[in-house]
Amino acid sequence: MKVITQIKALREYLNSIRKNDKSIGFVPTMGALHEGHLTLVRQSVKENLFTVCSIFVNPTQFNDPADLKKYPRTLQKDCEMLEEAGCDLVFAPDTSEVYPSEATISLTFGYLEEILEGKFRPGHFQGVGLVVSKLLHMVQPDRAYFGQKDYQQFLIIQTLVKDLNFPVKLIRVPIIREKDGLAMSSRNMRLSEEERAAAPVFFEALNAAAEVLKRDKNVNGARALAGRLIEEKNGVSLEYFEIAHPDTLKPLSNETVGDEVVLCVAGYVGNIRLIDNLIVNI
Ligand code: AMP
Repeated sequence: MKVITQIKALREYLNSIRKNDKSIGFVPTMGALHEGHLTLVRQSVKENLFTVCSIFVNPTQFNDPADLKKYPRTLQKDCEMLEEAGCDLVFAPDTSEVYPSEATISLTFGYLEEILEGKFRPGHFQGVGLVVSKLLHMVQPDRAYFGQKDYQQFLIIQTLVKDLNFPVKLIRVPIIREKDGLAMSSRNMRLSEEERAAAPVFFEALNAAAEVLKRDKNVNGARALAGRLIEEKNGVSLEYFEIAHPDTLKPLSNETVGDEVVLCVAGYVGNIRLIDNLIVNI
């Protein structure tokens, strides 16, 4: 497995891959890899002749500088895991390689970036849009793999690719969970034992709400129940729990609910922020 840190070297290497008509799959990550990331990598390995994984903790998508500073960085271990998963090339640039100067351009996504994650993390999706644009230009993959774990992010990237005509096929990969339901996340490694024990409450709340929805299509009741379950858990606080349209993320009510919805949740366990979601067919 090749490890490259410079854009020029990456382009040269991938040009030679493309000359041999090899399809390129791309998995962008911020490192501190776990089974969730590796599932994306394995799917890319299956569907492409060459797989690139990027590891870059993107400063422009962090609205909280303390969160950026504390973000786990485990490059050597990540590379070992990627090699084992069949990845062909790791692109691990420095911040100055990706942002030699502050970007003047900014991408906005209208309503999609004003709600849920966008509301609680102002500027987050502008940073995501910028870095994903840069990475797609650098790698020029045939297919790019993203996790459902970041549901809203996937919609943002779909918008980006559609509006700017990126010649790439986007693939959404289902959420990989721990045995007790907690969605895998690089942030989980920062949870204390006690916090780790409380963290599955988000998935429990998603499932409890899904049951209410399936039983009697009661959106307001489902939302209230989920909120209560989370708020009642010691050391856990709720930021939002929303039941929304799966394409637009517009919040639904008992009157507007359709056959398919997405339940999105965000909150804190101690001072670690976690997100999760569930697609439900009612
Ligand atoms: P991150 O390193 O957190 O930026 O994540 C890189 C990619 O892995 C994103 O597309 C995430 O949605 C995806 N991902 C992270 N955690 C999971 C998970 N538990 N299951 C599936 N995909 C995930």
